[in-house]
Amino acid sequence: MSASFGLFRLQQVDSRISQIETRLAKIQETLDNDAELRAARERVKLAEANQHNAEHARRTSEEEAKGQQIKIQQVESSLYGGTVRNPKELQDLQAEIASLRKHQSALEDRELEAMLKADESQSELQAAQENLKQIQSRLGNEHQKLIDEQESLTRNLETLKSERQAAVSAIAAEALSIYDNLRQQRRGVAVAEISDNACGACGTTLTAGLQQNARHAAQFVYCPSCGRILYAS
Ligand SMILES: [Zn+2]
Repeated sequence: MSASFGLFRLQQVDSRISQIETRLAKIQETLDNDAELRAARERVKLAEANQHNAEHARRTSEEEAKGQQIKIQQVESSLYGGTVRNPKELQDLQAEIASLRKHQSALEDRELEAMLKADESQSELQAAQENLKQIQSRLGNEHQKLIDEQESLTRNLETLKSERQAAVSAIAAEALSIYDNLRQQRRGVAVAEISDNACGACGTTLTAGLQQNARHAAQFVYCPSCGRILYAS
């Protein structure tokens, strides 16, 4: 049996693990960073804040106008209550009411403006929420597919990791360290299977002698071009 059989098996598992991990990272990125969805969420957040502020401003202006109305009523009841008879005092009360009314009219204008703003911000909030709902339901299907794929890949990954443990336990520490170093240097592929008389990783044609060695020698045989360990089935 080829000296590299155990490493070849490990290589197959590791390549599959890398593929799955790359795909899982991509799926996670898509789920996290869907720009359209994020923009729609931002819009809702902004609209909520604006609506909250506008509603607060509306309530404040409403209370101010009400307070002013109460002040006017109090002065009016003094004026018409019959307890004040002095013409000078009555005149003062009338002047005070006129001044209070003038200010009240300004407060009412402000209240009206605040109401309009509150209505506008409420409409924008509803539009933003509706927009988010539409995007969520459209992306919902796509996202659900990705989530299903994510679950299935995660299960595969668990299986592969126990397969990896089994494969590693059959390999000598020295061979494993050669393998790990090569994988780091050769973009994750340390072992290449010979196929059609060539190195399966770089495509270099291999001599019959080299292939024979790869099949039977007790030592690892390396591809003369890419330096990977050769495996012959
Ligand atoms: Zn090669």
